[in-house]
Amino acid sequence: MHDIIYLTDIEQVGHLPEQTQLRLRRVTEAYRFRANDYYLSLIDWDDPDDPIRRLVIPDVGELDASGELDACNERANYVAPGCQHKYPHTALLVCAENCAGYCRYCFRKRLFMDNQAERVRDLSESIDYIRSNKRISNVLLTGGDPLTLSTERLERIIRELRTIDHIGVIRIGSKMPAFNPYRIIDDPELPALLARYSTREKRIYVITHFDTVKELTPAACLGLEILQKAGVILANQTPIVRGINDTPEALVKLMGKLSYIGAPPYYFFQCRPTVGNRPYAVPITEAYQTLEAAKRQVSGLAKRARYVMSHALGKIEIVGMNEDYFFLKFHRARYQEDEGRFMIFYRHDKAYWLDDLVPADGQPHPVHERHGDTLTPRVDAVAQ
Ligand code: SF4
Repeated sequence: MHDIIYLTDIEQVGHLPEQTQLRLRRVTEAYRFRANDYYLSLIDWDDPDDPIRRLVIPDVGELDASGELDACNERANYVAPGCQHKYPHTALLVCAENCAGYCRYCFRKRLFMDNQAERVRDLSESIDYIRSNKRISNVLLTGGDPLTLSTERLERIIRELRTIDHIGVIRIGSKMPAFNPYRIIDDPELPALLARYSTREKRIYVITHFDTVKELTPAACLGLEILQKAGVILANQTPIVRGINDTPEALVKLMGKLSYIGAPPYYFFQCRPTVGNRPYAVPITEAYQTLEAAKRQVSGLAKRARYVMSHALGKIEIVGMNEDYFFLKFHRARYQEDEGRFMIFYRHDKAYWLDDLVPADGQPHPVHERHGDTLTPRVDAVAQ
């Protein structure tokens, strides 16, 4: 049994000079710090560019106030307390209020702020909503990190969902295998629970979140193997983050190892324009070219993932680019009329987000709709 120690004060970290601690305290007063001794032990403190350090130790650049707290207007997706329903077949249960560490680039950092009321303990209204909406075939447990919940609480949620015939897939989005694999290794009840509900007919997926190959330690791989033996399907999603995985070499190593261990890449995300996240964002052109350079060096299995923007309007895939244009396509859409919509924009190498782009196909920008001769913002496409 491993006694993992959680740290919430930057001063507890050690290794950082006092002046640095003082500077970072200003950041952690705005956006909380959280890590644990296992994850911090992976940092090479002699390497200023260590990707784990970059992921979890604050950066003064976070005090840049550009961006929005809820950049994709997730608040507009709530249909019941704790339940987001944006796409017809998928519901999100925001069931956890914590993570085993806080990624500095988190797009849901608002959940970890004291004055936010999005996190919910009683999900009964949400489950009733899902039960009564027969179009929903899959549910994503998210947060925060659902694996921070007790196994007992997790079981109550999964058991309820498994009583709903029209729910085929239950997904658990978790960075726990990276932040603290001992949560899995040391709790035999967890794989037992997953094995009970990940059945031949209806699997449970754990969508992992490994950003760098350095996180794929022997303990992390053991944690994943325990999940696989419990009948869980694994896939990985990660944003492309400045200083963590923004080179072809870093991505090749990550994609390769993920495919070897059976947690193949699922999505690569463009960083959302969330306030405080500017130091971590990579422009679309650079992220696309980096990912393409990496893809040329890995197997087909390692590169099945799509590179997408999770925009208020839907998941928008960056399909390609040439010297003049970006080619984008709605992979999932909030509005039915956008489903599969293909779009061409002028290439803009400093653009970070859909809203920075100018259409080149004669269509209105997707955040607008045309009324006669005037364009108006589409409902829910605007960040809060
Ligand atoms: S694990 Fe996910 S929810 Fe938690 S801090 Fe990281 S990005 Fe945010």
